[in-house]
Amino acid sequence: MKSYWQNYIDGAWIDGGAGRIDVINPGTGKKLAEHALADATDVDRAVAAARHMHHSGALSDLRPVERGRMVQAMGRYLLENIDDIARTLTLEQGKPLWEARIEVEGAARYFEYYGNQAETVEGRSIPLGKNYFDFTTYEPFGVSAQIIPWNYPVEMTARSLSAALATGNACVIKTPELTPLSNACFAHAAEAVGLPNGAVNILCGLGQDAGAALSAHPDVNQIVFTGSVPTGIAIAKAAAQNVVPCVLELGGKSAAIVHDDADLAAFENDVRWGIYFNAGQVCSAMSRVIVHDSVHDALVGRMVGVAQSLSVRPGIEQPEFGPTMGAMVSEAQRDRAADMIAAAQEQGAHVATGGRKPNISGAFLEPTILTKVTPDMTIANEEVFGPVLSVLKFSSDDEAIRIANGTPYGLVSGIFTRDLDRATHAARKLRTGQVFVNEWYAGGVETPFGGYGKSGYGREKGREALWNYVQTKNIAIRLKG
Ligand code: NAD
Repeated sequence: MKSYWQNYIDGAWIDGGAGRIDVINPGTGKKLAEHALADATDVDRAVAAARHMHHSGALSDLRPVERGRMVQAMGRYLLENIDDIARTLTLEQGKPLWEARIEVEGAARYFEYYGNQAETVEGRSIPLGKNYFDFTTYEPFGVSAQIIPWNYPVEMTARSLSAALATGNACVIKTPELTPLSNACFAHAAEAVGLPNGAVNILCGLGQDAGAALSAHPDVNQIVFTGSVPTGIAIAKAAAQNVVPCVLELGGKSAAIVHDDADLAAFENDVRWGIYFNAGQVCSAMSRVIVHDSVHDALVGRMVGVAQSLSVRPGIEQPEFGPTMGAMVSEAQRDRAADMIAAAQEQGAHVATGGRKPNISGAFLEPTILTKVTPDMTIANEEVFGPVLSVLKFSSDDEAIRIANGTPYGLVSGIFTRDLDRATHAARKLRTGQVFVNEWYAGGVETPFGGYGKSGYGREKGREALWNYVQTKNIAIRLKG
């Protein structure tokens, strides 16, 4: 592991105006490396480089298939270098090495998908009578600012970057200060595939410093933010000041409704992935299970079995897929989750399993299940962003939907039943951007993703996301009679 990592602006690796930041390995609690810390001047430089590249037409004037090929090649670059990228990601973020590999594969898939989509963004001609010729086209916004969270730093950057480049934008990426290292792979990939300098700029900086400077920058034309609700609000305000669009992908308190006819054995797998993947630090984590009274005890027994089957240890010691979980991203995040468990107990929740910090160094927390949770409790409404599952009970379908819809969030939801009518009715009533029926995380890069309510607005993934990165232009030509 290199001891010092720089920012990447206009094709060059540079130091940060705000000095350096320590990057900690959450699997050990020890310092891993230092990263250059950008200030507002660095942000200015990166935005100027992106703007200059955009105005040169080096990307936007290309035939889309050529841009698409470069975007696809970036994905292949990630796969060719998966061992190095995944290792860096695990060391800085805490997730098991096998999960880090899945993340890099997921990132590569975005470049494959949006690279393929590049030449599908077509305009249309609108008939206005014989004296006019009219057509509508889609143009890139120009400078796309992308502010990234620490939970999936590689995949979240890939999600926005791939679609932005495929549509011909120039990008300035503000990496998360806790996990900035693995994002260097996108600079290497951009160079490897021959993207022009200034197309991809990557800098690490503090949120209130470089992040705020980027989101308020007058030469930024569009913003994509993935992160917490308070930061999302700050960014939406900054975007409004400059009258530029922004996409907000924020948090969630997503619920799975488990009916009495659900396949409880199959649901064990949903619990395993839904709340313990990435130690629960997933915006769309299954952080609530709302279960029918009659199967509550049987389901809790199964879920406790899943939680207790997971061995918790440093991600770097977990190369192979298996029943393992890594560290959380930092001790501060772990302590916040542990405090929320303690507060839930004070409000009457019962720890069915877990709840403790294992007696090893690093940011570890046991896989936790809380029962006796009621909809009024804080734990039932606020995002923990950790391996903590809250179990609530219901006795009628309407009650289940009411509880599921009862938080300010609305990212995803799940419904588990063998009754297709019941599932379809529920899917219509659930106020979330995505509804999973009988499999948590059903879907993929192709399916649009984003929130209702405080979970944000705009959609990433799927064809929908392409429209975040283009603006519509109509050209009407008066012909001589
Ligand atoms: P965060 O909001 O603290 O930080 C996210 C990013 O915003 C970081 O890069 C940070 O430096 C930057 N930032 C902080 N303050 C800023 C400011 N004032 N101006 C501009 N930028 C600023 O979030 P986090 O703790 O890194 O991530 C966890 C949150 O992200 C959770 O709520 C989670 O649900 C959410 N999330 C959502 C999705 C999604 O797609 N919906 C995906 C991943 C994470």
